[in-house]
Amino acid sequence: MATTTTTSTATEPDSDPREPLDRLFRDLRTKRTGLSEREAARRLVAHGPNELTRRKQRDWPKQLLRQFTHPLALLLWLAAGLAVLAGTTVLGIAIIAVIVLNAALAFVQEQQAEKAVEALAAYLPATAAVVRDGVRLSVPARDLVPGDVLIIEEGDRVSADARLIDGGVEVDLSTLNGESLPAYRSAELTDVAGPLLDACDLVFSGTSCTGGEAKAVVFATGMRTELGRIAALSQRVGRDESPLERQVKRVAWLIAAVAVGAGIAFLPLGVFGAGLPLPDAFNFAIGLLVANVPEGLLPIITLALAVGVRGLARRGAVVKRLSAVETLGSTTVICTDKTGTLTQNRMTVTDIWTPGGDRSALAVAVSACNNADLEAGSGDPTELALLQAAAEMGTEVSPEHRAEHRVRQFHFDPTLRMMSTVDRNDDGLVVNVKGAPEEMLARCARFDTAEVERVISEYAHRGLRVLAVARRRCDAIPERREDAEHDLELLGLVAMFDPPRPEVADAVARCHTAGIRLIVVTGDHGLTAKEIARQVGIARDETTVVTGAELDDMTEAELDELLRGDEELIFARSSPEVKLRVADALRAQGNVVAMTGDGVNDAPALRRADIGVAMGRSGTDVAREASTMVLTDDNFATIVTAVEAGRQVYDNVRKFILYIFAHATPEVIPFLLFALSGGAIPLPLTVLQILAIDLGTETLPALALGREPAEPGIMSRPPRHRADGVINRQMLWRAWGLLGGVSALLVLGGFFWTLLAGGWHLGDPVGDGTPLHHVWVQATTMSFLGIVACQLGTAFASRTQYASLRSIGVFSNRLLWWGVLFEVVFAAAVVTVPALQHVFGTAVPPVEHLALLVTFPVIVWGADELWRWYRRGRS
Ligand code: ADP
Ligand code: MG
Repeated sequence: MATTTTTSTATEPDSDPREPLDRLFRDLRTKRTGLSEREAARRLVAHGPNELTRRKQRDWPKQLLRQFTHPLALLLWLAAGLAVLAGTTVLGIAIIAVIVLNAALAFVQEQQAEKAVEALAAYLPATAAVVRDGVRLSVPARDLVPGDVLIIEEGDRVSADARLIDGGVEVDLSTLNGESLPAYRSAELTDVAGPLLDACDLVFSGTSCTGGEAKAVVFATGMRTELGRIAALSQRVGRDESPLERQVKRVAWLIAAVAVGAGIAFLPLGVFGAGLPLPDAFNFAIGLLVANVPEGLLPIITLALAVGVRGLARRGAVVKRLSAVETLGSTTVICTDKTGTLTQNRMTVTDIWTPGGDRSALAVAVSACNNADLEAGSGDPTELALLQAAAEMGTEVSPEHRAEHRVRQFHFDPTLRMMSTVDRNDDGLVVNVKGAPEEMLARCARFDTAEVERVISEYAHRGLRVLAVARRRCDAIPERREDAEHDLELLGLVAMFDPPRPEVADAVARCHTAGIRLIVVTGDHGLTAKEIARQVGIARDETTVVTGAELDDMTEAELDELLRGDEELIFARSSPEVKLRVADALRAQGNVVAMTGDGVNDAPALRRADIGVAMGRSGTDVAREASTMVLTDDNFATIVTAVEAGRQVYDNVRKFILYIFAHATPEVIPFLLFALSGGAIPLPLTVLQILAIDLGTETLPALALGREPAEPGIMSRPPRHRADGVINRQMLWRAWGLLGGVSALLVLGGFFWTLLAGGWHLGDPVGDGTPLHHVWVQATTMSFLGIVACQLGTAFASRTQYASLRSIGVFSNRLLWWGVLFEVVFAAAVVTVPALQHVFGTAVPPVEHLALLVTFPVIVWGADELWRWYRRGRS
C-alpha cells in the first residue's frame, strides 16, 4: 500500500469477516470467480483507493523550529545574547541573521532531502494478484476493492484484509503484532471468538506470506484495514542517522568547543596582551566563535546523501536508507546470485537427452509440472523455457489444460531444488517431477548412471542449466512430499542456456580495479556456475567451487579459512542458509558485504548483510522488504554503479568539509597577529566581515561541491576502511595547513600592502578619528576580499582529491560557477553599496591593490594542484 494524502470514503458499513463464507460472499456481493472488471472499477470510485492516508504534512513548522533550536543554533543564540548584553546590538543582529539564514537554508535542504526520499516509493509500485471475470491478473495494490478475490503466494506482501476461501498460508504478522514467528492461516480453520488478528482464516494488509498458497476474498481496504486502524504506519524510507552524519556531528561539536575555547582564550589576550577595551575584546571573541561554528554542515550532508539516493533510483537502484549510500561506498565484497543477476534470466532449451530417445513423455511431464503461462509470457523463466520446448514438440501447454488435470502440487523448494505435481490423466494418477539432477537421480530407479553423469557434466561444462525430469504412476494421491518424490522413472535431461548480461563483464572488471571481491552464490550446478562466471570474468580455471554439501561439512573455522583470501569463490548447489553463513563469516572478518537475494528464505541473509540487495522484477515482496537496496533492473552491473555512487557521495562530502574548513586559518591567524603583537598591528579583519564571509561564501559552493561528478579513478582505488574517519589528519593538513596557510599568507600580504602603502608604520593608531583610519578600513576590506578570493581558489582545489583539475574540466561543475558568481557579486556589494559599507565597515581599496586579488584564487588553487600532482607521482 502506498501512502498519499487523499482520503478514502467508504460508502457501506463493514461486513463481518467472520460470518459464514456464503453470507460473506453475499454481503460483499461477490463470488469465487471474483468481481467483474467493471464492478471493481465502480467500487474503486465508491471505496477510494487502497491506500493509507497520512495525516496532512503539518509538521513543517515543527521542523523549521527545530532548525532554530538544535544545540549549535542554541550556542549561536547565546553568542547573540551576549553581544547584545555587551552593548553591540549590530553584532547581535548580525548573529541572529546568521542563525535565521542558516535555519532557512537547512530547512530547505532537509525538505528537499525528504522529497527526494519520498519520491522513491514511486519506483517500487506494489502489485497484487487477483481474479477478476474469472481470470487471474496482476493489478496495482492501490486498485484492490472489497469483494476482490486475491491470490496469495509465498513471498507476497498481503495488500488488503481478506478472508481465506481456499488453501493455506504461513504469514508473518510482525508488522501488526510484533510477533516474529509465522502463523498458519487456512480456509479450513474457522473460528469466531477471540481478537480479529488471531482469527485463523483471516489475513491482513501489511503482513507477508512466507509459505503456501491461498485464495482470499478482500473485506477491507485502505484506512479500513487493521493496518489503517493502527494507522500512521507510513511506508517512508528510514531516516536513521548514518555513521557519516554521526561522525560529522561529533567533529562539529569538537570544532564548536575549539571555537568557544579560542573565543574565551582571546579575551585575556585581547585585553591584557593587546590592550583592547573589554567590550571590544568580548565582541571579537564572540565573532571568532560564530565564524567557526560549522552549523551549516549537517544539512548539506543530508542533502548530499539524498541527492545520491535520488540519482541512484534513476539508475535502477532504490536505496531504502540514506545511510546506505555511505555504506555502499565502502563495500568490500559482493555476494551475487547467478541467474537473473549475472545472466539475463532468459532461458532457451538447447539440448534434450532421453534414455530411450522418446521425448514426448518428457514434454508432457514438463508441461504438467509447471506454473508458467507461455502465451502470456509470465512465470519462472526456467519453466517458460521448458514450456516453449514442449510446445515445439507438439504438447498442449495451456494453463487451463494443466489446471484441469492437476490434483496436487509440491512447490519448487530452493533447498530441495525440486518441484512436483500430481496429475490425473486417462490412465490414472501420475507424479511429475523436475529439478536439479543430483537430487532427482537420488530418487530415480534404473538408469545408466555413467551415461547420465557424462551428459550432465558435458552440459554443465558448456554453462548450461540442467534439469532432470521424471515421473511415477501411483494409486492414491500422496499426502506428503516424501510420499510423492521417490522411485521415479527418469524421463530425461533438459539443458538450457541463459546468456550473461552484456554489461556484467565490464562491471566485474571495475570491481577488480576497485578492490572489491566477488563471490557467486547459486543454486545451480558448480560447473554451470563456473562457466558463466568465467564468461563474465569472475572465475578463472583455478577458481574454487564449493558445493552446499561440502559447506555443510565445514566447521566455522574452515569456512573462515576459505573466505580469508581475496580470491573469487563460487558456492554452488547452495541453499539460502549458505548465504547467511557466508555473510556472517565475511562480516566477522571485517568486510562490508553486499548480498543479493530474491526468495523468502533469503530474507535473513539480506538482513544480516551490510547491504541486502533484492530484485525488483523477479524477487518476492518479502525479500524486497528485508533488503536495503532494490534493483529495479535486477542487474549486477547496477550494484557496481551503486557502489561507485556511494564512493562519489562520500568523496563529495569530504570535498565540502575540506572547503568549509579551509577558511578557518586566514580568519584566525590575523587575530593572533593582532593579539601577539600587543596591538601594534591593528586588527586585519572586523567581526562583521567575518560573519559576512561565513554567510556569503560558504553555502553555495559547498552545495555545488556536493554535486561534483565522480572523480576519475574513483573505481581504481581500494575500498575505504570501515574504521576510517571522514575527517582525517591528511585532510586537516590540506584544509588548515596548505589551503588555509597559503590563503592566510596572501590575505596578510594584501592587508599589509594596503596599510603600508597608505603610510602606516608599526604601532600607528588606526582608530576612529585618527588620520590612518580610512587606510585601515581599506586594508581590512582587502583582507575580506582576499579571503573571498582565496575561497574561490579553494573551491576549485577541493573539487578533486587526487586528480588534476584539467582531467575533470574547469567548467564541468556548473553549479560551482553559479556559486562563484554569487560570491563575487555578494562581496562586491558588501564593499561598494554605501549602506552595506556602513554596516560591515568597508571602503573600496586602491584599484591596483584590487588587481592583486585576481591572482589569489590562482595561487591557492595552484599550490594545491602541485600538491596533488606530487601525491599522484608518489602513489
Ligand atoms: P539460481 O541460483 O541459479 O537462481 P535456483 O535456486 O533458482 O538457482 O535453482 C537451482 C536449481 O534448481 C537449478 O539448477 C535447477 O536444477 C533447479 N530448478 C530451478 N528452477 C526450478 C523449477 N522451477 N522447477 C524445478 N527445478 C528447478
Ligand atoms: Mg533462481
